[in-house]
Amino acid sequence: MRGGSVAVVGGSIAGCAAALAVSRGGAERVTVLERADDRLRDRGVGIALHSDRYDELREAGYVAPEMPWAPLTRRVWSVRDGEAGHGRVVGEQPFPFRAYSWGSLWSELRRRVPDGVSYRSGAVVTAVEPDADGATLRLADGYEEHFDLVIGADGYRSVVRDAMFPGADATYAGYIGWRGTSPDVADLPSDGNDAHNIVFPGGHCMIYRIPDGVGGHRLNWVLYTAPPQTDGLHPDLRTPTSLPPGRLNSELTAHLRALVADAFPPYWAARVLRTPAETTFIQPIYDLEVPHYTSGRLVLVGDAASVARPHIGGGSVKALQDATALEAAWVAGESWKEVLEGYDERRGTVGAAMVALARRMGDAQVENTPDWTAMDQAGFDAWWQAQNSGSDRRSGFGGHSMKAG
Ligand SMILES: Cc1cc2nc3c(=O)[nH]c(=O)nc-3n(C[C@H](O)[C@H](O)[C@H](O)COP(=O)(O)OP(=O)(O)OC[C@H]3O[C@@H](n4cnc5c(N)ncnc54)[C@H](O)[C@@H]3O)c2cc1C
Repeated sequence: MRGGSVAVVGGSIAGCAAALAVSRGGAERVTVLERADDRLRDRGVGIALHSDRYDELREAGYVAPEMPWAPLTRRVWSVRDGEAGHGRVVGEQPFPFRAYSWGSLWSELRRRVPDGVSYRSGAVVTAVEPDADGATLRLADGYEEHFDLVIGADGYRSVVRDAMFPGADATYAGYIGWRGTSPDVADLPSDGNDAHNIVFPGGHCMIYRIPDGVGGHRLNWVLYTAPPQTDGLHPDLRTPTSLPPGRLNSELTAHLRALVADAFPPYWAARVLRTPAETTFIQPIYDLEVPHYTSGRLVLVGDAASVARPHIGGGSVKALQDATALEAAWVAGESWKEVLEGYDERRGTVGAAMVALARRMGDAQVENTPDWTAMDQAGFDAWWQAQNSGSDRRSGFGGHSMKAG
């Protein structure tokens, strides 16, 4: 397939990768429409990429070794044990991941978007009107344009998805992720090469080092737990939303801080509680699946297509893999129909399998946590295995292998 005008709605990780994919595939004119202005792009949070998935994506030309990253080799799961500083280790596992900061991953992808692509910041798409030959996009500033193909890379509240499958919305999983980063990286155990997972009844907290973008590191953490069902403490999260820094309900913050002080080993409690408040924010956790990744001339990539709970550590990988699959389908297809069917076939079942695995992990790690105090390495291994037992080649912790098909 050669030619065609393509709009990519959303210019984040999935959007930049999709713009690269269709440019390489041979699209004639590519326009990225991103709601945010450039200042908002610099999210400081961490993203961990499984090393094997990274290798595949590097071979495919979507990521590069020069992007700043911090190596992770092992994940240590610990529970509070009285006043023992680091708590008690309930289990250890290999953790071959590369830790990135979201901002550096995005910048690298943005840099790779070919010069010929028009990337428009501050462009808010308000309506998507499909027809037999493509779709018309309407923007908040009154601008409208018709494209042969529209790619929805606009995240979990996608307007493109809404035009394809009205009502196929993200569903609140019943708990939140509370995230933060800090410069507090001195004297980390194992020189900072371990990821730490602090477990407690009703949740867990992942802690690991990420690059700070200027040659050093920051400490990145994300704590998953259900907010208490008390008026004022539990914002209405059934409608997909996010609460930016500074907008965090102060009572909820106080609740989370008390949980950390009470349930974390003292060493890790201090690290989390020292985090500057302005770097912390809440992300409600959602599940999202769609019947297909394409409909007519509309296509979904990344979180717009499916959202797997973050315990699986594969959301960005999935977004990047969606783009590589779109490129492959574009190169292989002789017509729009072939391109779109080929892409849906490659990715639709992967998205659903990842969501299912992430649900099992959320159930085991947050919603129905085991008695951590009784767990040892053998018990941990069996518990971990049980979460993964339903996986096949289309899913897996850290994302599925593209080589597996
Ligand atoms: C707590 C948490 C931890 C995570 N940890 C990891 C991890 O360790 N590893 C990992 O791989 N993944 C992780 N993820 C997942 C990962 O962040 C996402 O899967 C990934 O960033 C997908 O990006 P995306 O481009 O599809 O969506 P988004 O990053 O949400 O981008 C959507 C873009 O579309 C734009 N947009 C939206 N609507 C419009 C519109 N109407 N008009 C124009 N533009 C619009 C938005 O401004 C935004 O820039 C985590 C997620 C969460 C919530």
